[in-house]
Amino acid sequence: MKKKYHIITLGCQMNERDSETLAGFLEERGYEKAAPASSPGGVFDGADSADILILNTCSVRENADNRFFGLLGRAKHIKERRPETIVAVCGCMMQQQHIVDQIRGSYGWVDMVFGTHNIHEFPRLLENVASESEKAYRVLGAREEIVEDLPAKRAYGYKAFVNIMFGCNNFCTYCIVPYTRGREQSRRPEDILREVEGLAAAGTKEVMLLGQNVNSYRGAGADGTAVDFPALIRMLDGVDGLARLRFMTSHPKDLSDGLVEAFARCRTLCPSIHLPVQAGSNAVLARMNRRYTREAYMALVEKLRAARPGIAVTTDLIVGFPGETDADFADTMDLIERVRFDAAFTFLYSPRQGTPAATYEDQVPEEVKHARFNRMVERLNEITLEINRGYVGRTLPVLIEGPDKARRTGLTGRTETNKLVNILAGDGDAGCASGAGSAGSVQPGDIRDVRITDVNTFSFTGELA
Ligand code: SF4
Repeated sequence: MKKKYHIITLGCQMNERDSETLAGFLEERGYEKAAPASSPGGVFDGADSADILILNTCSVRENADNRFFGLLGRAKHIKERRPETIVAVCGCMMQQQHIVDQIRGSYGWVDMVFGTHNIHEFPRLLENVASESEKAYRVLGAREEIVEDLPAKRAYGYKAFVNIMFGCNNFCTYCIVPYTRGREQSRRPEDILREVEGLAAAGTKEVMLLGQNVNSYRGAGADGTAVDFPALIRMLDGVDGLARLRFMTSHPKDLSDGLVEAFARCRTLCPSIHLPVQAGSNAVLARMNRRYTREAYMALVEKLRAARPGIAVTTDLIVGFPGETDADFADTMDLIERVRFDAAFTFLYSPRQGTPAATYEDQVPEEVKHARFNRMVERLNEITLEINRGYVGRTLPVLIEGPDKARRTGLTGRTETNKLVNILAGDGDAGCASGAGSAGSVQPGDIRDVRITDVNTFSFTGELA
């Protein structure tokens, strides 16, 4: 019988991509994914039968430490019931020495600890633990090199995440990433092209390019010249079979005219951009070390909308950054009115140990933060709904993702602007995409015209045109 693995992934798409690599290594070694249990257990669903349980952690979000140690407590119950289960913890939280020390000191039953820079060493660490019953701790301070051609068990067939760079040089004062993921390193453009060509040849329709700040991508071309991000996009735009290209995340200070032009010219580049603004007050932006002004941000959005009319702009916003006054918050609300975001990820500021902002003394009282947050989210949602209403009656190409699990009938998919569409089953033409499918059925990865019949804040309803 095959050995089983269960991976719990917290955080961003880069972590999801790392988990695909870990799954790839395990499947190469004869493991298979543990089947979900009959009684659903949330993220631990299936973990009870696993021979190896991996927690891939994130250090970015609020209360990340609490969440991680809560999950570790549940992992301990599994280890007590099945001591032979290997428990591994990895991800960017394991790039923090005080966390690793805490695990060594108080969670001695954890078998493996490794950081984001050591993924390629996972097979060797696993072998040590499995064969010698040794604990394996391997956490590098900095990524030594980018290791290519690691295996991957991709989570989806129709879309894929592709890392183009690792790390970040920006040191926004609230963010732990530069300390955990290290300095920027770009993959070679030829390696990225080869990966995307391979994915497209295998049927992937949509590729999401990943990096903490893709706009500062600078890869070494075969002839030694540097390839920047717009040049990389143009290179990938020509890949046969690729229908959609997206990227994440994009720092406004590094968004070049070349990228704006790529939105106007490139066939596959979707009209959608996630451009985190974080705050609408110049004083707060300066304290965050974002190195752009509200005026520069709004000018960028104007350029993007001129180059690609209808482009969807989404953002991140932090409320209650230290020192944020009522006037600063009013500036953020004003920016929201002017830009009119398609959607926003909103965060209450919370101090991350090890970042400069955590030491700022003028922390905003919790009740003030919450009141501002609620006001802001309410207005953002109203604007999203107003924008979404403009889609009703339009027929749009939708990339089919799979069956609509919530409604148990029909399909779900995404527009080019990345809006989620629930497609109602009708006359037997939608609702048969569970995997096997029948001749003429709609399959995940198909791009079909869908007429939008209704919208709400978070999704659309439509029917196949
Ligand atoms: S750009 Fe700023 S917020 Fe983004 S990862 Fe780098 S330091 Fe963090």
